[in-house]
Amino acid sequence: MAERFLVGAGVGSGVAHGKAFVLARPEAALAQISKPGNRIGLIAIQKAMLSVAEDLENVTTVGDAKDVMMALAMILRDPVLFDVVKAHLSEGAEAADALRRAFARFARQLEALGGYFAERAPDLGYLANRVIAELAGDLPPVEFPSEPFILVSDSISPMDAAKLDPNRVLAVITTDGTPTSHSAIIVRAAKLPMVVGLIGAGLIRTGSDLLVDANAGQVFLDPTIERIEHYSTAANLDTQVIRLLEDDREAPVTLLANLGSSFEAAGALAAGAKGVGLFRTELLYLGQQEPPTRAEQFAEYSNLLAAFTGKRVLVRVLDLDFDKPLPFLREAGTGKYANRGLQVLLANPEVLETQLSALAQAQAANPKTELWVMAPMVLSVAEALQFAEMARAASLKKVGVMIEVPEVTEPGVIEGIIDAVDFISIGTNDLTHYALGKSRHVAGDGAVSGTISLSETRKPEVLNLIRRVITAANAAGKPVGICGESASDPESAKLFIALGADSLSASSALLPQLKAALLA
Ligand code: PEP
Ligand code: MG
Repeated sequence: MAERFLVGAGVGSGVAHGKAFVLARPEAALAQISKPGNRIGLIAIQKAMLSVAEDLENVTTVGDAKDVMMALAMILRDPVLFDVVKAHLSEGAEAADALRRAFARFARQLEALGGYFAERAPDLGYLANRVIAELAGDLPPVEFPSEPFILVSDSISPMDAAKLDPNRVLAVITTDGTPTSHSAIIVRAAKLPMVVGLIGAGLIRTGSDLLVDANAGQVFLDPTIERIEHYSTAANLDTQVIRLLEDDREAPVTLLANLGSSFEAAGALAAGAKGVGLFRTELLYLGQQEPPTRAEQFAEYSNLLAAFTGKRVLVRVLDLDFDKPLPFLREAGTGKYANRGLQVLLANPEVLETQLSALAQAQAANPKTELWVMAPMVLSVAEALQFAEMARAASLKKVGVMIEVPEVTEPGVIEGIIDAVDFISIGTNDLTHYALGKSRHVAGDGAVSGTISLSETRKPEVLNLIRRVITAANAAGKPVGICGESASDPESAKLFIALGADSLSASSALLPQLKAALLA
């Protein structure tokens, strides 16, 4: 049979060769529960949600996987989510439909947050499936092959990912999902090669011969003898990654990692990150009725700082807007930036002060880590001054802001902002969208409006704004880094360095390749 070459997104590293086992979805059980006339009441739904939550809490696992299970269980116990299910039921929706719509709404809120959170959204789909399957009763047990196999599935839930036996499963392939979903984090932690979003996975049958290259996100269906030999020689991908990591030449700029939770620290260090260039703190606040306490925040920041002793960690204070409703925040601003960025925090000073104080406490407990604290989406010099004053009053030493809107790159404004702070970070995701007049938000019907590709940051109208910011920061002798997704795009990264950026921050998984491209 001729070899076929299929492409997806790789998770972690490693190569596996073996026979496929294709897992079917429990469609029949789901269809049965959705049948008109088969109405299932609120109590049964609540029981099913709590039972899945308990199941998650009782999964015997540790570390990253345990954190994921607990986070998902918390979502299921969220009374706001249950209220939405209830509302759909009272409008006459069937149980499965009510659950799907409520979970989809929660997922859209995550998507609207962009970046890291958007990649968490698929977990909500798995959770809905799991609750519906629970309502449908026991599914027929799956008969797995006795020999080790490569698991092929549309998707894999974080709970199922945590239960994978690395002695029996050689690798995991899914047609859905993203490399930074909870499931992917768990599979990577189990050191299993994984490829998600595989195009053409429909060609794979149970028993198909597969060679999975997780580092390159490639799958060979019916690989040739030469291909198998190639991968089993010293040139295999594992060795290449180790070579990249052991390359002791320094990259031309500091390469940092973007993280959304302290449990991702180990992966960032293993990928060679010199520190953290963007720690998104939104996960602490999301889905809460009250802001997290200083003690809760301290625990998370302290874990993060402890993992990066001797290194630099840039934490961004809360960046939420009212497309991502949080009950404890007052609205702020008007126009296209209404309820976005730093202005929301300045309108809610008690929330900002608690966060700054928790950060200062974490710094005091971890004096060997260099904590830099920055605010999202600054809109004026006055805002930058106000934030810097509050952060310094909280005893934070390195204070910065993110440049994410075109207006603040104007001559006169950018110099004033740089003067007010110690460093600058350019958020190319938002800056590119706003410079090109597109929205990052998800429309009410779930359609994503105005999505852009990474290369659009290289358009002259965007690059000129970035150039202005970098030039002004260089002239003032203050550090300036890039932490949007385009920092991981080698072509863009080289341009940013040529313009004078001194650090790039990207997803951990992409750092080894980024370093290699910059040194090539
Ligand atoms: C950005 O806008 O480039 C950025 C890094 O922030 P976020 O993706 O979290 O909005
Ligand atoms: Mg942003």
